Amino acid sequence: TKSTCIITGASSGLGLATAKALADSGEWHVIMACRDFLKAERAARAVGIPKDSYTVIHCDLASFDSVRAFVDNFRRTERQLDVLVCNAAVYFPTDKEPKFSAEGFELSVGTNHMGHFLLARLLMEDLQKAKDSLKRMIIVGSITGNSNTVAGNVPPKANLGDLRGLAGGLNGVNSSSMIDGGEFDGAKAYKDSKVCNMLTMQEFHRRYHAETGITFSSLYPGCIAETGLFRNHVSLFRTLFPPFQKYITKGYVSEEEAGRRMAQVVSDPKLSKSGVYWSWNKDSGSFENELSDEASNPEKAKRLWELSERLAGFA
Ligand code: NDP
Repeated sequence: TKSTCIITGASSGLGLATAKALADSGEWHVIMACRDFLKAERAARAVGIPKDSYTVIHCDLASFDSVRAFVDNFRRTERQLDVLVCNAAVYFPTDKEPKFSAEGFELSVGTNHMGHFLLARLLMEDLQKAKDSLKRMIIVGSITGNSNTVAGNVPPKANLGDLRGLAGGLNGVNSSSMIDGGEFDGAKAYKDSKVCNMLTMQEFHRRYHAETGITFSSLYPGCIAETGLFRNHVSLFRTLFPPFQKYITKGYVSEEEAGRRMAQVVSDPKLSKSGVYWSWNKDSGSFENELSDEASNPEKAKRLWELSERLAGFA
């Protein structure tokens, strides 16, 4: 029988390409956890994922109720969960004012970090029951949150500070809408959320790897300059960004190649080490990459975990 992988945000870009790569292997059934049910169905058909290789289940990461309903609905399928991929993300680089999730968190951190944090915490119970050879949780990271790289040093840089904004609920009412307590900046909020993703993966690894045998990993698949992630950017940026990445930075990868890379992190026995942030070199060889000081700071990871637990109602 096929193994089961949940992918959030599988209706476009990297998530869709990964779903396709896994389905094409013939060994995987993909649960597409998506906020737009019809778009996900159409996308699966458009790229030719066979009907019996996927199931779309509604999941809006910007709402805790929706995340909880997703987990219930997934459990009703009675499939054994082998791999969870936290992939979905939103990015609002040109917004002047913050938008908010159902719980009132600034929407990029609310979706990219808080929604995934709740989902991942809830599904730990399901993942632990998987066979030993295959139990993985992947949280997609990014170079942009990593200030030890050139791309990560383009201002505004990610910085979680002392997390005072998050401690206050990130709601722009009795706290800042930014994790560090500063003024709203949409591009920075996205980068901060990706730092949270990478810190969360490492904290999961520290808390649960030895006890459960689950492999926790993150990755930077390369710059996939044509995905929907840049849909909210100004049109000149959207025109120039793909050729810039192709010919100048040479960091460009196609959606198909990025999907194959993430599918490796899902299923390749060679990529089973836990706590790793994977990247790929020019020849598409995978290697264990280093994270910036902030994105690998264990005290920050612990504090982020504790605050996120409190906001998600665990503590
Ligand atoms: P896309 O915008 O193409 O895909 C993002 C997906 O997330 C879409 O399926 C979108 O759904 C979904 N999504 C957004 N909000 C929610 C929500 N509230 N609930 C559920 N799903 C939601 O972008 P990418 O494929 O580029 O991004 C995928 C991941 O890759 C992200 O984690 C991103 O940070 C990361 N990444 C991307 C890079 C790039 O160069 N593109 C580089 C490094 C990392 P819908 O279709 O309904 O909009």
